[in-house]
Amino acid sequence: LAGNEWKRDPTVVKVGDVEIGGNKVVVAAGPCAVESEEQTETVAKAVKRAGASLLRGGAYKPRTSPYSFQGLGEEGLRILRKAGDETGLPVVSEILDPRDREVFGKYADMVQVGARNSQNFTLLRELGRLGKPVLLKRGLGNTVEELIQSAEYIMMEGNGNVVLCERGIRTFEKSTRFTLDIGGMVAGKLMTHLPFCADPSHPAGKRELVHSLALASVAAGADMLLVEVHPRPEVALSDSEQQLTPESFQLLMERVRALASVL
Ligand code: PEP
Ligand code: MN
Repeated sequence: LAGNEWKRDPTVVKVGDVEIGGNKVVVAAGPCAVESEEQTETVAKAVKRAGASLLRGGAYKPRTSPYSFQGLGEEGLRILRKAGDETGLPVVSEILDPRDREVFGKYADMVQVGARNSQNFTLLRELGRLGKPVLLKRGLGNTVEELIQSAEYIMMEGNGNVVLCERGIRTFEKSTRFTLDIGGMVAGKLMTHLPFCADPSHPAGKRELVHSLALASVAAGADMLLVEVHPRPEVALSDSEQQLTPESFQLLMERVRALASVL
């Protein structure tokens, strides 16, 4: 279902009235984690003003250490929904557990599957049945072909609204947090009709690298960007080093628009 041999024309995934996979680069931006109502509203207004089309924010966080901040859970989703409604931005957030399907059905416009759950086939089937658009991230150790096979699990349950996301993979290279596989994304776009998102924030690991990885992704044909932005990154409860300030995000949006206009 996800393969190019099955359907040749590119799939456009609609989230509210935002179209992913058309001829515009769609940008989703917001904090790594929803931390408070004030933080989320501040960042929602800033990313909206800068030209983002979707608001992201994690409420259930897949942290490496169980002692790290785990997210606000349902309360976080409620806050995200409120900030999205106030700014007119549809919201995307990560689901960890199929048992949370009702909560996501209630609050989210798009459901994110994180890298760590990219091959959680029970979760993928469940999201196929939930029917909301899915942002499916590539697993840290998965090939592009495996990512497309994961999309197949969602699609076989009747949900064709899947956006694939390149977010970097584990390699021997340590100069970045993960290796953003731009070549894999380009090759992937030839294998499937589904749109591709690139997340420059997690592979960068450091905010100094985020603009370049974002621009490289757009130049390579990404249909969407997922960018972490925090009103005060230095005090963020997760991914503090890589989140952009609202000012830096505004500049990134100007650079993305300038680049997109010559592609
Ligand atoms: C995220 O987008 O906040 C996230 C946890 O990403 P990933 O699953 O790619 O690590
Ligand atoms: Mn993060």
